[in-house]
Amino acid sequence: MPVNAPVQYRAVRLEAPGRKLVDATLDAPAPGAGELLVRVRAAGICHSDAHYRAGVGSTNHPLTLGHEVAGVVESVGSGVASHRAGDRVCLHYLVTCGTCRDCRAGREQFCPTGQMIGKDRDGGYADLIRVPAGNAHPLPDFVPFEQGAILMCSSATALHALRKARVGAGDTVAVFGIGGLGVSAIQLARALGAAEVYAVDVNPAKLALAQRHRAVPVDARNAGPVQAIRTATGGRGVDAALELIGFARTMEQAVEVLAPQGRAALAGLTQERMSIAPYRDVLNREAEIIGVSDHLASEISELMRFVEHGELDLADAVTRVVPLEAAAINGVLDDLEAFRDDVRTVIRP
Ligand SMILES: [Zn+2]
Ligand SMILES: [Zn+2]
Repeated sequence: MPVNAPVQYRAVRLEAPGRKLVDATLDAPAPGAGELLVRVRAAGICHSDAHYRAGVGSTNHPLTLGHEVAGVVESVGSGVASHRAGDRVCLHYLVTCGTCRDCRAGREQFCPTGQMIGKDRDGGYADLIRVPAGNAHPLPDFVPFEQGAILMCSSATALHALRKARVGAGDTVAVFGIGGLGVSAIQLARALGAAEVYAVDVNPAKLALAQRHRAVPVDARNAGPVQAIRTATGGRGVDAALELIGFARTMEQAVEVLAPQGRAALAGLTQERMSIAPYRDVLNREAEIIGVSDHLASEISELMRFVEHGELDLADAVTRVVPLEAAAINGVLDDLEAFRDDVRTVIRP
């Protein structure tokens, strides 16, 4: 360990499912072989974190939440040649074995021994985080840490959803939900060649944000978004629809709005059941309903290229910054549970 290695660090932790997060001071870990210790400079607060705080999905409590992390390498463990102290990095949140059948097939999010940082192992609501070196991707100098952090979840998953829905040149796309994922999805859909993007939400601020990114806002408070989009597309519907909210009703709408051979990619989390009319909505149109789970490490480098080319700009996606303090973070998670205005809040330790 370097001579002036940190001895202790601060973290905001979930002691038990269903409780509020608490402030903690912990002994600083040393990076093991093949690992890095990263000083966190920004950690995004995600809607999923509200679920994990409630005890849905999170494991290994007490647990430091936070899976959208960017920072600077503090120290490297033995055998690490890929990184040096001082490197700017952003962290891919899935820690996978790299050798099992799923990892080798390029679907590492199904690795049976995989762990997600901030869900199954300690995450980035902290000053420091220890991760395998392979999870740290270079963060270009021109991308602020706050944006690097949120790229790692919402943008990466938005890109994966668009890939799963096979969005390509000339496609029309409907995006349900303009939160952290949605604002990336509408820009990335364009970058992939989409001809028109319809952005569905009920929040005027989010609809205005979508419009600034050249999407057609569809205010779901006025009338049914399916009818509005059908009218706008001359009755045809869209080639791809992304559901990024996690409501059965919007998932149903994402299927109902499809054109012939359209693809609905569902990425919002819900325990509700959805219902569809198989003949009208699926068979008759040869429509596809596709599940979206996380994203791939390879998609992170692809994302950086979109950022480099100015096709993905998250400058207005980070709408609030809070300190590394349990009270502030619990407040943000409460707001997320209530679907208030903020697109993305980032912790700056
Ligand atoms: Zn997230
Ligand atoms: Zn594996």
